[in-house]
Amino acid sequence: EGRRLAQLAHAETRTRDGSTIRLFANAELPNDVAQARANGADGIGLYRTEFLFLQRHHLPDEDEQFQAYRELVLGMGGLPVTIRTLDLGADKADTTGLALTREPNPALGMRGVRLSMHRPALFATQMRAILRASAYGPIRILVPMVTSAEELRATRALVDICARDLRSEGHEIADHFDLGAMIEVPAAAIALPSMIGYVDFVAIGTNDLVQYTLAADRNNDTLSHLYDPLHPAILRLVADTIKCGHKAGKAVSLCGEMASDTRYTALLLALGLTEFSMHSGALLEVRDRIAGCERPALLKLAPKLLRADREGITAILARL
Ligand code: PEP
Ligand code: MG
Repeated sequence: EGRRLAQLAHAETRTRDGSTIRLFANAELPNDVAQARANGADGIGLYRTEFLFLQRHHLPDEDEQFQAYRELVLGMGGLPVTIRTLDLGADKADTTGLALTREPNPALGMRGVRLSMHRPALFATQMRAILRASAYGPIRILVPMVTSAEELRATRALVDICARDLRSEGHEIADHFDLGAMIEVPAAAIALPSMIGYVDFVAIGTNDLVQYTLAADRNNDTLSHLYDPLHPAILRLVADTIKCGHKAGKAVSLCGEMASDTRYTALLLALGLTEFSMHSGALLEVRDRIAGCERPALLKLAPKLLRADREGITAILARL
């Protein structure tokens, strides 16, 4: 079995009927890049930048961040790299030198793009480092915890200012930067038609989308029966997000844990997903699962899946 999977390492990702699916890797640590390439990822779909900020007392400066992003981009050898801007909040910020005030409810607090807007100098430092890395390969910028078009407009404005400054300082950077939003708060999924014009792509973050939609803490084991990626509300939000993105001609990926779980692969194809991003250890299994799927037949199941109750969803999936 291991050997059979290993042969898939550099195979194209296709469904049985020949539809091309793109598989990206999630990355956090420098070593993740080697495994992503070894397993034939089409690029990095989510690079979590938090680790640069954790377990330390001082914030990483522009050069330190630039070195890390450049190494990542070079490591991917010309494949697209999606760098997510800082997604820290009061739950994790104890050791970062960020000195965030304690909050009674960090999940609903000053985190992700909210923190970036609140600390514009911090955001600009990171943005400059990301843009400088674009001289070494294709990058895309991904913004976490977005709830409004204003946050995207403000981010785009910052990208433009940083790009202009860097060029006038003599840096050679890319001509254009794809900007994307994480869809991980229900408001973003529901109001996506009002935001889609401000982004080049979206990435569905089901880890948080499930938590916020179902009001069930993703880290609370006693609520794990409620933290359910197959809840009808989740299927609806994921399906609507994919549809809205594709209708506008924008790429839509899904980078939560759901993407790496082969129990959900057929379901996600049925909901229209064509881009998955996952920890690189799961790439081969998911590629293998995709190869066994008939995309047209799955797409026909979508209306039924979206009308079904939870039991009905399980029953449909059990037959796939
Ligand atoms: C998500 O929320 O699904 C996600 C990919 O981001 P993180 O797990 O880093 O919150
Ligand atoms: Mg998230």
